[in-house]
Amino acid sequence: MMIRRLVALAVCAALLPAQAQAQVLPDLGDVSDAALSDKQERTIGNRVMREVRTDPAFVDDPEIADYVKSVGNRLLGAADPPRRPIEFFAVEEESVNAFALIGGHIGMHTGLILLTRNEAEFAGVMAHEIAHILQRHQSRLYHGQTKYQIASLAALAIAILASRGSSSQSGQVAEAAMVGASAIMIQGQLDYTREHEREADRVGLTILERAGYDPRGMVTFFERMQRANRLNEFKSAPSYLRTHPLTVERIADMQGRVETMTPRLVPDSFEYRLARAKIRAATGSANDQATYFRQQLADRTVVRPREDVYGLALALRRARSFAEAEKELATIRSGDGAHPAFESLAAQLHADQGRTEAAIETYRAALKAHPRYRGLVHGLATVLIDAGRHAEALALLEARIRETPEDARLHELQARAYAATGKNLAQHRAQAEAYYLRGNLAAAVAQLELATKVRDADYYELSIAEARLRDLRSQLQIEREAEKALKLN
Ligand SMILES: [Zn+2]
Repeated sequence: MMIRRLVALAVCAALLPAQAQAQVLPDLGDVSDAALSDKQERTIGNRVMREVRTDPAFVDDPEIADYVKSVGNRLLGAADPPRRPIEFFAVEEESVNAFALIGGHIGMHTGLILLTRNEAEFAGVMAHEIAHILQRHQSRLYHGQTKYQIASLAALAIAILASRGSSSQSGQVAEAAMVGASAIMIQGQLDYTREHEREADRVGLTILERAGYDPRGMVTFFERMQRANRLNEFKSAPSYLRTHPLTVERIADMQGRVETMTPRLVPDSFEYRLARAKIRAATGSANDQATYFRQQLADRTVVRPREDVYGLALALRRARSFAEAEKELATIRSGDGAHPAFESLAAQLHADQGRTEAAIETYRAALKAHPRYRGLVHGLATVLIDAGRHAEALALLEARIRETPEDARLHELQARAYAATGKNLAQHRAQAEAYYLRGNLAAAVAQLELATKVRDADYYELSIAEARLRDLRSQLQIEREAEKALKLN
């Protein structure tokens, strides 16, 4: 195991510029203080997440991101209260993996979501990860490592992520992305023990059942993964199987437990089916996926599953066959099958073909029926800004920010609209809030410093910006001191 870890380190380090290497080489000097405190765990977790959120592979799409969050929170609601909230997110990665980051963040690769055959399987993997966090397995694993070994692994992961974001050598980006996506997971450097796995299965199954999912989902997924791995059906062995050692005994244990539980047939939520279709449509070649969805629909002439029609329309849009995409989409937009995701896609297809008015109309009509659907708000604001209708965009965004101030995308769009109208102080303030919400305090402070230097607003607005700057500066200082103590920066 150690060799693999060192190889992973060496491979990662090779991708870094020499200067970065010097900063991130493991510091083995201090072995006095082994265990990490809660606060230290959170500091590392937040620092890694700051890079993860700006990573191109981080899924910001509200339809997928919100779905993943909703399942995570439903499971969490069925667990014994966690000591802190857990953030759930998706990573656009074809490989099969799910991981719990130190500090309480759970990431799911889109490749794993695609491999699940029903929602209970997807929720089962998530419940297992939640259990690892609730049972504090990571802290127990870290116990054998020195604080600075952990911190330098974290620093390494951060450096890799940071280098991806700013890299202009497109030839290396794909390669860095491949290594980075697994290396970002500090946990990926540490494998759970069999004891941990058994406990995560047991606690995870209870959470899964209490949350109202079919507990069999967890077993069928792990069984299928093990079988596929044995038959070498994966392109390469999923890192998930390395970090979560899967044994015959584990599966037998799970089967035994499930037999004592009440099996229930819970139909998959439509949101699960939609998210899967959307992920598939965005994976690999657009034409291949259009063919896949067509095949799915070919033998379903009586009732065409809406998610497959939606997936087909999405794949066709990616292949720039807009008219064809519209034709397919039209068959599911009316009647009982209507869904805001379909309206959002319909509006995008209007915009794709330069029909701005129709796009705006479609968004507005859909928002009347589904005022809380984030994808529609983001889409409408974008089209309005692109069309130069900044006053309308700003009115929409202001109203929405009052309702959901935690939506970073709204602040980003607001910054764009302010920039286009030459309101610089307001632009920097909005951008600062977006950075703040994405966990980047330093960038938020930098924006507020710019805001207080431009003199294009009244005294009142300036003093709000100054007060916010003071507040964020002191938060930043606390964060920096905590990171410095762990040698993360
Ligand atoms: Zn596990």
